This record gives sequence, structure tokens and C-alpha cells, in this order.
Amino acid sequence: MNLEAFDKIKIENLVVFANHGVYPEENVLGQKFLLSAVLYTDTRPAGKSDELAASIDYGSVSHAAAKYLQDNTFRLLEAAAEGLAKELLLTIPHLEAVTLELKKPWAPVGLPLETVSVEITRGYHEAYIALGSNMGDRKAYLDGAVQALKRSQGCLVKRVSDYLVTAPYGGVEQEDFLNGVLCLRTILSPDELLKLLHTIEQDAKRERLIHWGPRTLDLDILLYDDQVLETEELTIPHVEMHKRDFVLRPLAQIAPYKRHPVLEKTVLQLLEEVEKTG
Ligand code: ADP
Ligand code: MG
Repeated sequence: MNLEAFDKIKIENLVVFANHGVYPEENVLGQKFLLSAVLYTDTRPAGKSDELAASIDYGSVSHAAAKYLQDNTFRLLEAAAEGLAKELLLTIPHLEAVTLELKKPWAPVGLPLETVSVEITRGYHEAYIALGSNMGDRKAYLDGAVQALKRSQGCLVKRVSDYLVTAPYGGVEQEDFLNGVLCLRTILSPDELLKLLHTIEQDAKRERLIHWGPRTLDLDILLYDDQVLETEELTIPHVEMHKRDFVLRPLAQIAPYKRHPVLEKTVLQLLEEVEKTG
């Protein structure tokens, strides 16, 4: 998600009467909220064709946002903004990302103030996922994972590589692997995406018996935009990706010029290096 690459369509201070608040009276009596939105998109197609269908209709966004904020009741502005951002990203064509500022005038804090507000930015990200299986019907497990991602809310599978047969890794005696890579467009955060991948792995009855041992399905996050991330659960880019030809070969098929954000080399360059050193 590179916001600077997009054009913006802005809505400022749309007035919505709704029922969000921590105090029960706020949920019953309701009050005035002000919503501002920056809609990130590419306006060039509409700029050239002068056709509304090529752009985002800010009228329908305003109506959809007002309806969402009126039909749902949240305690927190944070939750209202989060839910609305997701709703808009899932339903508005051409919307790549959105910044929402939700203001509550005269919020009841026992002191005179004009407004309080919460501002968030949410959007679509590009992730590359590695798929591997070396037990049972390996192709069916990989196909099943692709289908499961296609069915997941806020996920769009853009490209899938061919599946390659590769010898096992890590010195454990076991069947050959079938490996592939896919490109995913998603509104999920890295943590949410990892959780989803774990659920899909578990549905494939994967059991973690031996480290690097046989598995029905292994799904790893290789890249997530150009983010570099290191937490207890998650290392992005994947720590081993630049050393593994069974990752780089399928990745080179669908994204040869994608650059590793830490090593600053393209997938093709990394693959050449791995093939040279054997
Ligand atoms: P491996 O993929 O190394 O063969 P597992 O699939 O059992 O082994 O993964 C073990 C843990 O690795 C996961 O539970 C996850 O928390 C962690 N992990 C760290 N970085 C990543 C990543 N980029 N993608 C997937 N899992 C990761
Ligand atoms: Mg894994």
C-alpha cells in the first residue's frame, strides 16, 4: 500500500446522526457525528474517459457510510471507523485505500471541547505466499489452499505459479514436496493473514510432529508490501526465502522483478545466486 502512488477523492464533514458512545444514553438518544474521508484510487481512467463508472462515486460512498454508521451501534469511535473502513474497502469498486476521520462534537468528557476524533487509514496490501505439501494428495492440498484464500473475505488471489516437485529439505527422510507461490491482494494485516493461513493449514489436517518433517500443507508469508517486520510470531520477509530455490523458482515465475526489501535484489537475482552456489 503506497498511498503516494494514488490520487485522492475527499469528502469533508459529512453529518450523520447516530448512536455511538460508551454511555448507554448515547446509544439511545443519539448524537451528531462528522465523517471525513480520503478515498485513494487512480482517477486517470475517469480523467480520460469522463465516465463516472471509471471512478469512485462519492455520492454513493457518502450514502453507504451514513447508512453503515446509522445501522450499527458502537461504543468507540475506533470500532465505528474500523468497521466502516472494512465495509467500504469490500464494497466500493476502485477503492485502494481509505483514510477516515470520525469526529464527535461536544463529546461528554465533563469539560468544554469542540470535537474529539479518531483517524485511521486502511487499504489493500500485496502479499506473496509460499505453498508446500509432501503428504497424501499434494496437488489437492495446494489447490485447496488457493480455493480457501479465494473464499476468504478481503482476499483476492491475483496470480498462482505452477507447482514444482522438489526434494525434501532439512535432512529428514520423507516424500518429495510440491511447492508453489501465489500473489494475494488483501485488506488483512500481517498478523490477521498469518492467523488465516494457520486456520487453512489446520483445516488441511496438518500436524506439527517433526520440525521440517512431512506436512500436508505449509503456508508461509514471503513478502508483505515492502514491509520489514520481526516479531515473535512473524518474520517478514521470510527469513529463508532468499536461500530456497523451491521458493524463488515459482516466485520468479509470477514476480521476477519484485525486489527483496532488505537485500535490495530482485527475485531473479536471488535465484541466480542460489543456483550458482548450488
Ligand atoms: P516452517 O514453515 O518453518 O517449516 P511452521 O510452518 O511450523 O514451520 O512455522 C512455524 C512458525 O513460524 C509459525 O507458527 C509462525 O509463527 C512462524 N513464522 C515466522 N515468520 C513467518 C512467516 N513469514 N510466514 C509464516 N510463518 C512464520
Ligand atoms: Mg510455515
